[in-house]
Amino acid sequence: MSDTESYGFDTLQIHAGARPDPATGARQTPIYQSTAYVFRDAEHAAALFNLQEVGYIYSRLTNPTVAVLQERVATLEGGVGAVCCSSGHAAQIMALFPLMQPGCNVVASTRLYGGTVTQFSQTIKRFGWSAKFVDFDDEDAVKAAIDDNTRAVFCEAIANPGGYITDLDAIAAISDAASIPLIVDNTSATPYLCRPIEHGATLVVHSTTKYLTGNGTVTGGCVVDSGKFDWAASGKFPSLSEPEPAYHGLKFAETFGPLAFTFHGIAIGLRDLGMTMNPQAAHYTLMGIETLSLRMERHVENAEKIAQWLEKDDRIDFVTYAGLDSSPYKKRVPKICPKGAGGLFTFAVKGGYEACIKLVDSLEIFSHVANLGDARSLIIHSASTTHRQLTAEQQEAAGAAPNVVRVSIGIENAEDLIADLDQALSKATA
Ligand SMILES: *Cc1c(COP(=O)(O)O)cnc(C)c1O
Repeated sequence: MSDTESYGFDTLQIHAGARPDPATGARQTPIYQSTAYVFRDAEHAAALFNLQEVGYIYSRLTNPTVAVLQERVATLEGGVGAVCCSSGHAAQIMALFPLMQPGCNVVASTRLYGGTVTQFSQTIKRFGWSAKFVDFDDEDAVKAAIDDNTRAVFCEAIANPGGYITDLDAIAAISDAASIPLIVDNTSATPYLCRPIEHGATLVVHSTTKYLTGNGTVTGGCVVDSGKFDWAASGKFPSLSEPEPAYHGLKFAETFGPLAFTFHGIAIGLRDLGMTMNPQAAHYTLMGIETLSLRMERHVENAEKIAQWLEKDDRIDFVTYAGLDSSPYKKRVPKICPKGAGGLFTFAVKGGYEACIKLVDSLEIFSHVANLGDARSLIIHSASTTHRQLTAEQQEAAGAAPNVVRVSIGIENAEDLIADLDQALSKATA
């Protein structure tokens, strides 16, 4: 599809990146289940390996089905390019990898998906990287945390699990002033509700496992590049601005301009880390994205109804949904995610840990799973599952205290979901 600038979101979510298959005319994007691609001749092969010509070599690097998804997500996010990966967690490593060196740190929000807190506070230490966690509502704390070794600032647009909304413009102003890229995990919001690049994000990462696929079938991730960061200006990103020994001295920023990060992600990131998305996963995610806006509208509509119902119920202590008038984050909704605060929030049950456990065991429509962004409604007691590796303070800071459950509201009939919560709360608090 040409001239993607002029089309609306609903058109782009179906068409961006896709064209009828040149060999067969197939209207739907084929699953190119092939590991390798025949070179026209030796000269063609050499040009591909030199990155002088764009094309397909081997599916660890690029695959035509995955490439359609890359272009689709990049278009929906308003980026110049994207690299798909095997999972959201892979996307986070792929986003940091070109930026970091041993001794470098990322300044990250305390309000993050629990798995990200663990990845950043524990696992990245093995690479000699570290994370400094701060409250991203405290702008002075974010500023103070950035030091000479900081190479990225990282937050979620709508933060898991509480559904809190980050003031992306304020954080982008801070990272800009420090000439540090801002990475925004846009998994919970999706580009339908929030477009972080318009708020100053350098890179957007996704767990495509969630709303983009939307049906709980495949894991995947994506790193979208805004193309707007000047990698050479500060001298802090030599892998992008200086001759890269891992690619026979290629200078990515000089050679590829705004696409430097994307090319680096494929030519070095996927080549050497191998966190590649497979074409089957890309297919399922492409199918999901076709209905993203329709689903997100319903997720938001249902979440609003259910959050309002829960808030009035005396078995509940509080509800964190940013779409509620009682939420301190409500004022950020029109600016950051004008089409709604998403489908994800937490609520606290009177009766604490035990009542939460009984609640999740008593629900019939809601499934007790460690996932979100599915068409079906999901619930999890974070403190005993996704956030159980965290300390009590980290749980509290992440909005996952023991008396709290997280729901991912699906696209079923809201009245059925409310009735299910009602019967399970009766059992839980009896
Ligand atoms: C699920 C999730 C991740 C991790 O993604 P995987 O696909 O499970 O690896 C990262 N960030 C957020 C906000 C998530 O919800």
